[in-house]
Amino acid sequence: MQENTVFEDISKNSSQEIFSPIPKGYKPGKTKFVVITGSVMSGIGKGTTTSGLCKLFADRGINVEPIKLEAYLNVDAGTLNPFRHGEVFVLADGTETDMDLGSYERFTDKNLSKENFVTSGSVYQHVINKERKGLYLGRDVQFIPHVTGEIKSILRDLALNKKAEIVIIEIGGTVGDYENMFALEALREMQFEEGKDNVCFLNVTYVVEPPSIGEQKSKAAQLGIKRLIALGIQPDILIVRSHNKISEKIREKLGLSVSVPLSHIFGLEDSKSIYEIPLILREKKVDERVLEKLKLNKKFTIKDGNKKLKKWVKEMTSNGRAKRVNVGIAGKYTGVDDAYISILKALEHASAKLNAKVEVEWIDTGNWKNRNGRLKGIDALIVPGGFGTRGVEGKIKIVEIARKKKIPFLGLCYGFQMALIEIARNELKLKDAHTTEVNEKTKHPVVCLMPEQYYVEKLGGSMRLGEKKVELIKGTNAYKMHEKQKFIGRRFRHRYECNSEYIKDFEKAGIVFSGKAPNEDIMQILELKEHPFFMASQYHPEFTSRPLKPDPLFYELIKAALKKKN
Ligand code: GLN
Repeated sequence: MQENTVFEDISKNSSQEIFSPIPKGYKPGKTKFVVITGSVMSGIGKGTTTSGLCKLFADRGINVEPIKLEAYLNVDAGTLNPFRHGEVFVLADGTETDMDLGSYERFTDKNLSKENFVTSGSVYQHVINKERKGLYLGRDVQFIPHVTGEIKSILRDLALNKKAEIVIIEIGGTVGDYENMFALEALREMQFEEGKDNVCFLNVTYVVEPPSIGEQKSKAAQLGIKRLIALGIQPDILIVRSHNKISEKIREKLGLSVSVPLSHIFGLEDSKSIYEIPLILREKKVDERVLEKLKLNKKFTIKDGNKKLKKWVKEMTSNGRAKRVNVGIAGKYTGVDDAYISILKALEHASAKLNAKVEVEWIDTGNWKNRNGRLKGIDALIVPGGFGTRGVEGKIKIVEIARKKKIPFLGLCYGFQMALIEIARNELKLKDAHTTEVNEKTKHPVVCLMPEQYYVEKLGGSMRLGEKKVELIKGTNAYKMHEKQKFIGRRFRHRYECNSEYIKDFEKAGIVFSGKAPNEDIMQILELKEHPFFMASQYHPEFTSRPLKPDPLFYELIKAALKKKN
């Protein structure tokens, strides 16, 4: 099964001075590993390549588990600012992760968990906890072998616990970053221990084409990849990103300089839609080459001649999209798509099904003046999740406009709370109604801290997080649009909630609470009757919306927007 004997070294001879322990029951070669690194710069589509490959493997019937190794020292993504690092994506088990996990889930239509996300911070925390417990038996604790050993254990645990046939590891950052050095070292060791047939290295690089020069240049890519080789890692496959199609000359230059045969170098120029990527990778035979390297190509063949994949791509990209709708998103980080990426994706899922094209208009609520005029031509409004004071009054104003002018409206989490505040102020005439998140001393705290949050002191990982049940109330809009299910599961991330002392008043003002937490007083969906579409959820429907399976709240919002337009 294995050409090398490193595993025998580990299991028979090792004093565990150098080799780290292997999880019980782990058999080398049973799981194969694909490692995806990036060179030259970030933002060139490493995440999309990873997601695309996951999809292609899953389509062949392979049990594939992606894992992101983040370089930063935060223990999870929960405390990160979306403006700087993109949205915080929440998994069903409540883990707060990088937005790439959202992309993996959407491409493979599969829920991931804590084990699929690792940060350097979480690795160090684990190592330090072990040290405090005395588990290193008097040894000095070192980056090699202890930190690298921890990373290898995490990967092998994932392989074993999820019975993965392939684990795809995306290394955060770019080769040459100081921070991801240990992850790369761990993976070099991994290939040595597992054997060459069991670990495949794929590098996503970039060929620049400076306008002043007017031609493609491969030097940056060569140097970037050479840094990887200097760390002892020889890439097996290159994905060469570029603006225009790369020339043969560039391919040859690159191949020669970093010892990768032309058959394993794939140019990938900018494309119109990320949904095309899996099919492009398939047509170029990228997945075939990876599986060949891992000796899995005979075992996992393509069965339906790409029928399913082609249908997926077609539905997500090419249906004419004659009908256009303008959706205004009233957020704090406007113009930074990554900060609201799941919302944008959920809109794509919904519009693809409705054969429409959504144009997003960002509404900067932090800078709220003379906005009334600019809302002309907007067919639907979304007030997304958020925290803190900035832009709150603007968001409340947006709710008011949507409600009074009967513009289809969807509130998400903070947006749900903003809708409560607006209705309390303008319909219940509670002038200073607010959330205690913004005004602790308000006379009318219509949104307040959840009791379970009173004694929480630490910021990270302490909200009401992850998938919870939502009980839908018979006869409501929410109940109908969710195919009359009594319960649905959705993902949450909040500390505050609708104050239960005001529920009766809200109901008198016309709010229907159509989704609630079973056996608890937590209101989870609200809707208004006398309005074409006015709904808000305390949960984040955007986290579970998937291609071909849009979340009903987004789907119905766009449907209402289309109707309003005609
Ligand atoms: N800040 C609000 C809360 O903590 C809403 C959170 C959110 O929108 N994710 O409840």
